[in-house]
Amino acid sequence: MDFSLSTEQIRFREAVRQFTAREIAPAAREMDERGEFPHELFRRCAANGYFGLRYPESVGGMDADFLTYCLMIEELAAGSLALASIVAMQTLMGTDLVFRFGTDEHRARLIEPALRGEKIGTIAMTEPDFGSDLGGITTRAERSGEGWVLSGRKMWITSATVADFFSVAAKTDPDAGFKGIDFFLVEKGMPGLSVGRRIEKLGVRASETSELILDDVFVPADHLLGAQGAGFRNLGAILTQIRVMTGALALGLGQAALDASIRYANERVQFGKPIATYQAVAHKIAEMGTRLEAARTLVYRAAWDIDQGRRDNTLASMTKLFATETANFIADECTRVFGSYGFAMEYDAQRYYRDARFLLYGGGTSEILRTMIARDLAGGR
Ligand SMILES: Cc1cc2nc3c(=O)[nH]c(=O)nc-3n(C[C@H](O)[C@H](O)[C@H](O)COP(=O)(O)OP(=O)(O)OC[C@H]3O[C@@H](n4cnc5c(N)ncnc54)[C@H](O)[C@@H]3O)c2cc1C
Repeated sequence: MDFSLSTEQIRFREAVRQFTAREIAPAAREMDERGEFPHELFRRCAANGYFGLRYPESVGGMDADFLTYCLMIEELAAGSLALASIVAMQTLMGTDLVFRFGTDEHRARLIEPALRGEKIGTIAMTEPDFGSDLGGITTRAERSGEGWVLSGRKMWITSATVADFFSVAAKTDPDAGFKGIDFFLVEKGMPGLSVGRRIEKLGVRASETSELILDDVFVPADHLLGAQGAGFRNLGAILTQIRVMTGALALGLGQAALDASIRYANERVQFGKPIATYQAVAHKIAEMGTRLEAARTLVYRAAWDIDQGRRDNTLASMTKLFATETANFIADECTRVFGSYGFAMEYDAQRYYRDARFLLYGGGTSEILRTMIARDLAGGR
């Protein structure tokens, strides 16, 4: 087995790391305080080619492997989880279904500009009454003339306030369970589409989140993304990637919180010595570092698996579960190492603690993931 990264991957990671240190980390606190979509940094990420990293050159992408993509997400998340989440939406969930199941015209008009940062895409599945229970959604898509009419209400939609296009989950057949779910391309400006209330959040505050209202929105027939009835199956193909990518987000945040803890523990003097010299504090650092390294091994292994063409949903679920719970553990310990200063808004420890909570929801909550992992293991994987 060879666990080493290629020279190209190491070089690329270093470039993203430097960009993060120079442009993202210094802006992270202000982004958090303002709680607004960071248009300028978004454009800077696009200019660096980050949005097209995992897409083929035919649409202006870089055709990089998934592990390289995860390295980028990890580095960006070390600077700001909010910004990294925005990038993740733009490069995976918000564009993938349109890229794979849209028409050539959609790819030219929406995906290519999105990869240049000129258009913003997002995905709208969750509803006020249906989150984990995606099969229960009540947004309906009904045939009408040469297309479909969509009606319903979506909740928690990342970047909806600024998005140009949405991959919206709707039921085409309410009696068919998961096979009745499909995704539709809906575009800003279509009559009946409106962005509702913006949600004030605990963390990842610069990643705007809001309701989305579909009131008899007509979309042409070719806006059905994929064959009718295949929406849930098509989502499954990227869910594996979403879970591993979320693990990479967790690595970045965990590393930032660990680094801050080490720095602080060496600077802070109590009883005449740096607190890092006390075993109780040193053991915290050791535990944080050990769990983070275990999470990193899982994320890289799962990403590498995807690059080998394998789709191991169980491994992806384990990866998301372990890495995001680890990030929450580290962020919690970080605020303890900081003592009361971990409670002060002027230090970053509290932001890591708040932002880490976000990792626990999208792509499956820890409770749902444990249930799925147990079921998969019982079934012999
Ligand atoms: C910042 C942010 C951004 C988001 N962005 C998007 C987006 O862009 N697009 C989108 O579609 N969604 C988005 N989401 C929504 C996210 O995917 C959902 O919040 C997630 O699927 C969980 O759904 P829920 O919050 O309704 O929780 P619920 O499903 O109501 O769960 C509540 C609790 O019950 C537990 N639970 C539920 N069912 C079970 C079960 N069967 N067994 C055991 N425990 C169970 C859960 O684990 C959880 O602890 C976002 C969420 C956040 C916080």
